Amino acid sequence: AGRIAIRNLSKYYGNYKALDNVSLTIEPGTVTVILGPSGSGKSTLLRTINHLERVDEGFIQIDGDYVGYRRKGNTLYELKERAILKQRTQVGYVFQNFNLFPHMTVLDNIIEAPIVHRLYSRKQAIAQAYALLDTVGLRDKAQAWPRHLSGGQQQRIAIARALALNPKVMLFDEPTSALDPELVGEVLEVIKKLARSGVTMVVVTHEIGFARQVADRVVFMVEGRIVESGSAAQVLERP
Ligand code: ADP
Ligand code: ADP
Repeated sequence: AGRIAIRNLSKYYGNYKALDNVSLTIEPGTVTVILGPSGSGKSTLLRTINHLERVDEGFIQIDGDYVGYRRKGNTLYELKERAILKQRTQVGYVFQNFNLFPHMTVLDNIIEAPIVHRLYSRKQAIAQAYALLDTVGLRDKAQAWPRHLSGGQQQRIAIARALALNPKVMLFDEPTSALDPELVGEVLEVIKKLARSGVTMVVVTHEIGFARQVADRVVFMVEGRIVESGSAAQVLERP
């Protein structure tokens, strides 16, 4: 599970077209890396997949559930609030700047969402949180405060927190670009480990080496459009 179909998405900021008729199908369990210059719409695309941004045209389908948008003039698909909420809980999102809740311990950061969404009892959520902390190699930090952790550790906790709702899809928006160079590797290792676990992943990054090693597909964006899409070898090794 975790098939994403994006069709004819367009997004304007005022008169500026940040996404221009983007269509993309992402197969379950695959890793898609999105590359492109700054300002090309990579982050906007990820944010629309998670409905952090509304788009002006087109639709997003995750495993058959549509969230669609109105085309100017004639209505193509209706906005469905319930479908938006459902898609949101199926999609984990990792931000460039971690965005951990600063007033909560690491453990509380991880158990908050599954408890609020009534996915687990508190006891179950805590047990799952420790399993996730093992996955990211930070079990000993359960009671720590986020600001006492390195950026790399905070990002690994943010990944654990995003996984706590058992998402079908994980989206990463430049997960290592706020990190000191020596901390990039530990975060990429965690993302690689997840890639092998079969979660569908979309990763916006400038880490070309990561794209070569991990991506099933590389998508290259320019000015709000997908201009190339293929294997890492096809997209990156062009003469
Ligand atoms: P990328 O992630 O590829 O760097 P973004 O998706 O962040 O690109 O941005 C695409 C374009 O949209 C840029 O020109 C950016 O300045 C513009 N943009 C992004 N967010 C907003 C916003 N909230 N309001 C207005 N313009 C925006
Ligand atoms: P300082 O850096 O001023 O010496 P600490 O950052 O070590 O203080 O925090 C002092 C105490 O407050 C510690 O017991 C710590 O666990 C707790 N603490 C730290 N940050 C928070 C927070 N955001 N909310 C609640 N308690 C916190």
